[in-house]
Amino acid sequence: MAKVLKSLTLAVKSADAQADIALINQFSKRELTPEEVYCFSVVMCDNDIDRDLERFTNKTLDKLAELFVGKTVIRDHYWSADQQMCRIYACEVQKTTDQNQAGEPLRRLVGKAYMLNTEETKSTIDAIEGGILKEVSVGCRISKKTCSLCGTSFRMNWSSWEYECENHHKKGETYPGEGYCYVNLEDPTDAYELSFVAVPAQRNAGVIKSVTDHEVDDAFDTLLSCPDLSEHPKFQELLKLMQRSTMSAEDRAARKKILSESEKIIKNYERKYQK
Ligand SMILES: [Zn+2]
Repeated sequence: MAKVLKSLTLAVKSADAQADIALINQFSKRELTPEEVYCFSVVMCDNDIDRDLERFTNKTLDKLAELFVGKTVIRDHYWSADQQMCRIYACEVQKTTDQNQAGEPLRRLVGKAYMLNTEETKSTIDAIEGGILKEVSVGCRISKKTCSLCGTSFRMNWSSWEYECENHHKKGETYPGEGYCYVNLEDPTDAYELSFVAVPAQRNAGVIKSVTDHEVDDAFDTLLSCPDLSEHPKFQELLKLMQRSTMSAEDRAARKKILSESEKIIKNYERKYQK
């Protein structure tokens, strides 16, 4: 199998509020009419091999279809009350006539989401309808990454600094007689959100993958037991990653501060002028 990176066309289509209103009302605080909502369907992810040479298995997609119902749709994976604009009210796996890069029928996870059709949400609705908001990425937690060739777990081998399975297969490599190695994402334990991404940095629907705590603990134990890391070829890379991690923590804190300050200002304004 050739190592190709195929871009995924993320189709956002408006859905039928009239037909879906009963489903939508399962999640709304009060009974809504079809006129009050705007709903759309979106391809969230599929079972194809992505840029990271990872892919959701069919079983994983089925599980994600259950986990995503009721979850929110936000922008840029950014959590704040006013950004939680829509809610997924239905989610299903659809089989297509295309093939994925593993030679299997391509399956896609398609979600339907609704939002209130108001003056405030008009710009978002226009952006969806106009095809401006069309890139999405899913945030979920996956507990197992396995080898496509032998099924054993992938993890960082901290003595060789290679990411490999228990039988030392590495993703992206082809093994004579065995085939091409990629990573299967298995056992999803939670679905966090579907996010519109304003900057189309990722051609495919990206996944926020979190390393299991166990793996990180092991890695830190190994690192901390080394008397000197400076000579290691990957040390600079690690240092950069750690600096980046620290910066994003600062960034998060700054954002939180800005938000709470704005909130105070707005509340103050409302108290004063909007009685
Ligand atoms: Zn393997």
